[in-house]
Amino acid sequence: MKCLGILGGMSWESSAHYYQLINEGVKARLGGLHSADLLLRSVDFAQIERWQQQGDWDSAAAYLADAARLLKAGGAEGLVIATNTMHKLADVIVEASGLELIHIADCTGAVLQAEGRKKVALLGTAFTMEQSFYKQRLIDHYQLDVIIPDPEQRADVHRIIYQELCLGQLNKDSQQRYIDIIADLADRGAQSVILGCTEIGLLIGPADTSVALIDTTLIHAQSAVTWMLAEHAN
Ligand code: GLU
Repeated sequence: MKCLGILGGMSWESSAHYYQLINEGVKARLGGLHSADLLLRSVDFAQIERWQQQGDWDSAAAYLADAARLLKAGGAEGLVIATNTMHKLADVIVEASGLELIHIADCTGAVLQAEGRKKVALLGTAFTMEQSFYKQRLIDHYQLDVIIPDPEQRADVHRIIYQELCLGQLNKDSQQRYIDIIADLADRGAQSVILGCTEIGLLIGPADTSVALIDTTLIHAQSAVTWMLAEHAN
């Protein structure tokens, strides 16, 4: 099994989920007492969030690049950045660490493409929904038409992530707001809705809506397990 490095803590609520999913995935493949060979570098999200708000992406990049270098020095051979948003800085982090990146948008795009989806919707932080680093990758590499919620909906999606989900708060009203937004996106033609923030799957899942959902945390964790066990005999 290859050793995986995880850059986590963004937020720890979803990193805990990653840790569980990756261990469950390894156990499902190898059985018995097998568990994931991994390193987790969990950062202080308050500092990351401050840099995001200030638009100081250079400081965040330098900090995460250092963290990834530590993972490499500790023995990690590949990297999971356990947040969609901070894939904005993926190139810098990869270049600094020399680690192979399991890119969350590639894992997501590949699944959507395999399912034959053409038009999809993206939910996530304002950074992920509005900037090009994530959307454009889905468009360019996976030939997807990507739509996003309208401005008022985006503000709610973003607020609920930072003010509730990253704090471990799961509220019924917020869940309903997400369900309504997802229904609206389906009405606009989305064949599938990407839960493009690693905490959203903590709030809603397939049982809450008839629209097809792609939970990036699940997809990413599964891809990580596949990567870790790629050279492992079945
Ligand atoms: N975990 C979130 C994501 O997947 C948001 C937190 C962050 O800004 O990293 O985008």
